[in-house]
Amino acid sequence: MYQYKMLIDGELVDSQKRIDVVNPADESIAANIPVATEDDLNKAVESAKVAFNDWKRTSLAERRACLSKLIEALDANSEALAQILTQEQGKTLADARDEVMYAGAFAGYYLTVDLEPEVLLEDDEQRVEIHRRPLGVVAGITTWNFPLLIAVYKIAPAIISGNTIVVKVAPSTPLATMKLGELIQNSFPKGVINIIADDNDMGPLLTSHPDIQKVSFTGSTATGRKIMASAAPTLKRLTLELGGNDAAIVLDDVDVDKAAEGLFGVSFMNSGQVCICLKRMYVHESIYDDVCDRIATLASNANVGNGMDDNNQFGPIQNKAQYLKVLDFLADAKTKGTVIAGGEVDDSPGFNFPLTVVRDISEGAKMVDEEAFGPILPVIKYTDLDDAIRRANASEQGLGASVWSSDLERAQVVAHQLEAGTVWINKHLDFGPHIPFPPAKQSGVGVEWGKEGLLEFTAMQVVNISKV
Ligand code: NAD
Repeated sequence: MYQYKMLIDGELVDSQKRIDVVNPADESIAANIPVATEDDLNKAVESAKVAFNDWKRTSLAERRACLSKLIEALDANSEALAQILTQEQGKTLADARDEVMYAGAFAGYYLTVDLEPEVLLEDDEQRVEIHRRPLGVVAGITTWNFPLLIAVYKIAPAIISGNTIVVKVAPSTPLATMKLGELIQNSFPKGVINIIADDNDMGPLLTSHPDIQKVSFTGSTATGRKIMASAAPTLKRLTLELGGNDAAIVLDDVDVDKAAEGLFGVSFMNSGQVCICLKRMYVHESIYDDVCDRIATLASNANVGNGMDDNNQFGPIQNKAQYLKVLDFLADAKTKGTVIAGGEVDDSPGFNFPLTVVRDISEGAKMVDEEAFGPILPVIKYTDLDDAIRRANASEQGLGASVWSSDLERAQVVAHQLEAGTVWINKHLDFGPHIPFPPAKQSGVGVEWGKEGLLEFTAMQVVNISKV
């Protein structure tokens, strides 16, 4: 079995403390890995703190050269990383290859963004400049749906802007990121990037550590609240990308066949385990039966199972706790709506769960009111558009939302009323490194990606010069 190591202070390190990593396709042991003790965590933070002294003085060109080596490592090892991702996360090999490719694209984007000082004001008497300074040591805490991509899109902006970083990977999907740590061991000065694993116990120590200046976190809203509280005593900078319960409103004028294909794809990508998957679908009563039938057919025809098998288009749920949560939502849904696709799981090993569509369901069901984060989709009937908008907005979360219509002007009127960080029209879940990803309401704080996301890894400094 491959021996994964953590990257601390430029060394690949082991630990007395170890955990098993489970392959969700069949519950076999994918690896047994070392996890950090408090001592290891403190060493990683101390190393990043020491490394910051020199790294912050490097030129953008030097930092770009190091980041380019990370991109080369991703590229040169893309197949191996994809195979590891499928074994730990469950997604299909095709999706895992895409994840590695996206990780490279996100890192590549940060090679192109500059951080030149801006001259705000210049006249005979004064010159006022705005500079962007690095913050110090960043803690990057990741989750299990896109483990490698999320780690890379935290590492790249952090280090390109002159910070150093300690990445804490998710306990159920540590492997691809630990492998990346091994691949880039000699690409950066020691301590600039540290990668630690844990048994779900090191997060609070990291987010309260006095030598951490910023936390960049992706995970649940509940954990985001805890992080905000634990970061308060030292007033850390925070970027929190949290949960979503994205609604789509499907207007009565859509081309049903075309819309159903699109709606299906964005509801079940990564088996529904995407923060910006479509999770509540509001459909006008005049086309409701048609849309339900088409989406149910697409879901029933999909193959779900081991991501290593090319015949499968969808992998299992990533971990047992999440599997049990989705099962609980399904049991609740069966008493409140009608299952028209999927809905039955067998007791073979693995967390395989058929794509499940439920109709004639509404608010009051768990799968509508809360984020399922799995392959179960409620299709909800509406009569009045204003009522649908009100219901779509009746969530404490607001990551994404979408409107589907053949009339773009009409769709835009609806889009402007939706309370979400991103609103799509006739699509959903479309993202890229150059497009900012801002959460609304309790879906988070701050913004990732794009220039705006990069600036969150910096402190603004005004230099105000007298010329007289
Ligand atoms: P989680 O919050 O339980 O865990 C995420 C990470 O936080 C893990 O690394 C975990 O070890 C760590 N952690 C746990 N407790 C902590 C604490 N008290 N302090 C610091 N760190 C702690 O999340 P999850 O359930 O594993 O992930 C699923 C959630 O993530 C969903 O809600 C999903 O919507 C969200 N998500 C959001 C985005 C986004 O960009 N908005 C992207 C992917 C997933």
